[in-house]
Amino acid sequence: MPREDHQPITEAPNRKQATREELLAACGRTIGFVMALGEESTGDLHPAIEAALGAGMPAVFVLGSPERASEVADAVRTTVHRKNVVLQAMEYDSSAAIPLTRDAGNFELFEFSYGLIATARAIADAMLDDYDSIVIMNGAQESVTTAHLYELCSDAKAHAGTDVAASWIQWLRRPPYYIARDFLDTLDESPLTQSSENGVKPVPHVHTLDHVFGEEKLAAPLVKPPALEPFFEGCTMSALQAVDLARYALAHPDEELHSPNLPPSLLESVEPKPLSNSDIMMLEAAKKVLREGDDVPAGEAAELAWADAFGKRNKRDFPLLNDRAHAGRLAYLDSAATTQRVAAALQAQRDFDEHENANVYRGAYKLSAQATFTLNDARKRLEDFIGAKRRETVYTANTTTATNLVAQAWGEHNVGAGDVIVCTLDAHHSNFLPFAMLAERKGAQVECVPFDDGGRIDQDAYREALARKPKLVCLAQIGNVFGIAAPVKEMAAAAHAAGARVLVDAAQSFPHMQIDVRDLGVDWVAISAHKAYGPMGIGALWISPDVFDEMDPLGGGGGTVSHVGVGSYYLRPQALQYEMGTPPVSQAVGWAAAIDYLEALGMENVARHSAALTRHFVRGLGSIDGVNIVGDHTQPDGQMGLVSFTVRSVTPAETASFLGRLDVAVRSGGHCALPLHAAMGMIGTGRVSIGVHTTRDDIDAALTAIALCRRIHETR
Ligand code: PMP
Repeated sequence: MPREDHQPITEAPNRKQATREELLAACGRTIGFVMALGEESTGDLHPAIEAALGAGMPAVFVLGSPERASEVADAVRTTVHRKNVVLQAMEYDSSAAIPLTRDAGNFELFEFSYGLIATARAIADAMLDDYDSIVIMNGAQESVTTAHLYELCSDAKAHAGTDVAASWIQWLRRPPYYIARDFLDTLDESPLTQSSENGVKPVPHVHTLDHVFGEEKLAAPLVKPPALEPFFEGCTMSALQAVDLARYALAHPDEELHSPNLPPSLLESVEPKPLSNSDIMMLEAAKKVLREGDDVPAGEAAELAWADAFGKRNKRDFPLLNDRAHAGRLAYLDSAATTQRVAAALQAQRDFDEHENANVYRGAYKLSAQATFTLNDARKRLEDFIGAKRRETVYTANTTTATNLVAQAWGEHNVGAGDVIVCTLDAHHSNFLPFAMLAERKGAQVECVPFDDGGRIDQDAYREALARKPKLVCLAQIGNVFGIAAPVKEMAAAAHAAGARVLVDAAQSFPHMQIDVRDLGVDWVAISAHKAYGPMGIGALWISPDVFDEMDPLGGGGGTVSHVGVGSYYLRPQALQYEMGTPPVSQAVGWAAAIDYLEALGMENVARHSAALTRHFVRGLGSIDGVNIVGDHTQPDGQMGLVSFTVRSVTPAETASFLGRLDVAVRSGGHCALPLHAAMGMIGTGRVSIGVHTTRDDIDAALTAIALCRRIHETR
């Protein structure tokens, strides 16, 4: 029985904002982290494991009920072990931890207390000899972040006599338990009843994450979402259609409106449907967005009108946006993930496939010679577009294979134990992981340069990192979370002066700004065609002649050599020796056509269009209460057609799926930049990204849907 004189759960201290250093100090290095997975637990275990390791815990134990044992073992097996970290899967008898009686008055509290206390006791028995304290987390693993665990750990340390801190599903909204070992030892078979009778109550736990960018950010509210079905069932139009109708309504205030769901030809033959309540809500939201959007200074309005006309004209060039399913309905705002294919690229690819298809660099017959000529011509158009000389560009599958090529063909031979590689904290996994893995193989170190409050690279920290004489610096010209252009030219010059090589991930900049690889003064540039209106399955790596001699081929085979003798082989010149096997010829041809298309539009116009629509979107977001814009988009370097945001009390996934139901396509989640999100203490963001076909209506549709999403969730 619990002893009267031992208060197992104590008041939480008043929390203050803690710095990372304070939190790490509070955690110490002796806290073990346990995740218990019963049948109810949800989500991917890896983010929680990472969060625990990030919080400085040296040990993570993952417990699985028999039903989930293999999943748990797999999560542990597929986690790359770090030095000094114990990571272990353990079996866990959920029937012992979770009571059979589920009709207790306060079910959640009952299950919480009983399940975790019983688990805690077993774990404490097994582990407390090795660890000062243990944190147990049960359920909703996908929502755990390092920041949350810092907090729990520092609390656990602050509670005198705490050996185990335990937390249950939806734990961000619920108090954790701080439990002393002595108390655990006193428990009998019905711990909850005993604890309750002793007046043991959870302490109120106010979740405090520090603030990023001066505004409230999303703190993973795992609260049951409101029932959205009635709203969606009543919707007869998409957000884009609502914007269209709202514009009409503003111009014809006395006219009665009907559902626009039927084509006008049919509307004449059937009784038009009146607008539903959901339609009316959407219409009102759209009207507000339109009115506010019009209320801007004349210069800005003119720029917006120009961008709108540019987008409208270009939209005609994208078959998918004009087909039956999507025309007038879909607001496609996920170009940063993949752009829509422009008709010219589709046509060029098809022409090649239908009339010129043959292998390249190999055949003596006319068709093969023609295919070779066509490929060479396509490569030349790409090289000209980015300011490269002949034979400096190798086709890859995408940006990711291009960065991996650098890690392997250069990194393997030039990075050794103790060397430093500099990345930025917002790096896409593609421009981080190849080098993290390289560093692991070589015993080198990756340093991630942090950001200032506006999402710009902290140049002081960058200079400090360069002072450690890194071998390699990896930069993104435009990041895919902040959407802010980095001063790559200046940063590359500084890196070269410090003796480093420089790789630039231009996946997001290539579609929005003119790139001149020589002018940038870097060593490699990686790009993908599918982010610039070309096909999937092809990208490129530009290799500076300066670095060429430091690289070695990845492998041999057809395509990499110009001649092979019995005891010798002759590599193809420069970059071409990295093209192993038959290249993606029709994709290269399609890509060249997409490049011609961008060239004809004029990259300065493309950039001007992105900037005007970014400003319009950011201004609109700013007037929706409860929306947090990530990063500073007030300056031209932040007006690159990409904006991330969060909506208060709504997870990014819920936001994106809400928008998706209204045919507004946006991305949500960690955007392959999980270290950045972990550092920001965010589980993810929503992201709108603009293409050359984006119109003002598309942006207004997104604003309408975001405003509605916020409004409908407001009651949470
Ligand atoms: N880098 C950045 C900045 C990106 O945005 C992306 C795609 N989201 C990539 C790299 C990876 O591109 P891919 O999938 O074409 O390899």
